[in-house]
Amino acid sequence: MAIKKIAVLTSGGDAPGMNAAVRAVVRTALGKGVQVYGVYRGYNGLINGDMELLNLRSVSDIIHRGGTALYTARSPEFCTEEGMQKAIATCKEMGIEGLVVAGGDGSFRGAQDLTERGIPCIGLPCTIDNDIACCEQTIGYDTALNTCMGMIDKLRDTSQSHDRCSVVEVMGRHAGYLALNVGIAVGATSILVPEVPYDFDRDILQRMKKTSATGKKHFIIIVAEGVGHVVEFAERIQKETGVESRATILGHVQRGGDPTVRDRVLASRMGHCAVELLLAGKSNRVVTIQGNRVMDYDISEALRMKKPFDIDLFRIAHDISI
Ligand code: ADP
Repeated sequence: MAIKKIAVLTSGGDAPGMNAAVRAVVRTALGKGVQVYGVYRGYNGLINGDMELLNLRSVSDIIHRGGTALYTARSPEFCTEEGMQKAIATCKEMGIEGLVVAGGDGSFRGAQDLTERGIPCIGLPCTIDNDIACCEQTIGYDTALNTCMGMIDKLRDTSQSHDRCSVVEVMGRHAGYLALNVGIAVGATSILVPEVPYDFDRDILQRMKKTSATGKKHFIIIVAEGVGHVVEFAERIQKETGVESRATILGHVQRGGDPTVRDRVLASRMGHCAVELLLAGKSNRVVTIQGNRVMDYDISEALRMKKPFDIDLFRIAHDISI
């Protein structure tokens, strides 16, 4: 029997472009005669029945906004069997026959559990870390890259004026894609990522000394969050090179901001696909775009996949920052 009612939620860490994804889900579904509940604050909204039916205008004026109009949350209760059963009971009570989950890998584990218990789910990969293995680019990543680049460009101005070294922490506890790509874009002298072991003397101090000898007077060192403490790094650099050094933690600004064209288009294409998959009777799929083609993977398979770190790009960064 054809699906008549679905729901959409945003969960886990927020990412710019979530709004564009929700808008695409709602408009695609309504265009096909399917009703859509917007569920508030991730899985908590399913547990508490905090949701409302959306119309075409409910998602007006959000495509250009960062954050998520549906709010997001981390829901420890949902990870318990009791919480999960409450969420399922709400879905049954509200007549929800399919659910689109916009979030990261944690949220997809939840979606997998729901699917196994009879609520068909489709995942939309939204995370600024770009750490979903089946996905070349996640929703939010491009915006975060551009946000980081803009802020570090500003730091570069002041580092240049004062002949300083800026040691900058960017997000990425386990994944260095953001650090690597931002590092290249801002012309960093060194880039430290969790995927590649580093030697402080070889990879920072010696590189700074070598480029100093060719006349370079200001430096940018990019450190992914998971690698170490930028304040300690800056102190050590100053002590051992004599170059005045400052630590900057970009922090949560990296999660915000208007989504870029790329993220809006990505989110719109993926959101549209999620509804088509549900209406085609598919479930437990994560939507992805590879080589500019929209595709879908089994969530369980996607969660098992490991994303290879782009070591060639890392080498390029190394070769041109001399
Ligand atoms: P993200 O989706 O950004 O990776 P989290 O890892 O915090 O963010 O996950 C978001 C939410 O998804 C959690 O608060 C929890 O409700 C749910 N979730 C995470 N892991 C699991 C799991 N293994 N089983 C069921 N639900 C999970």
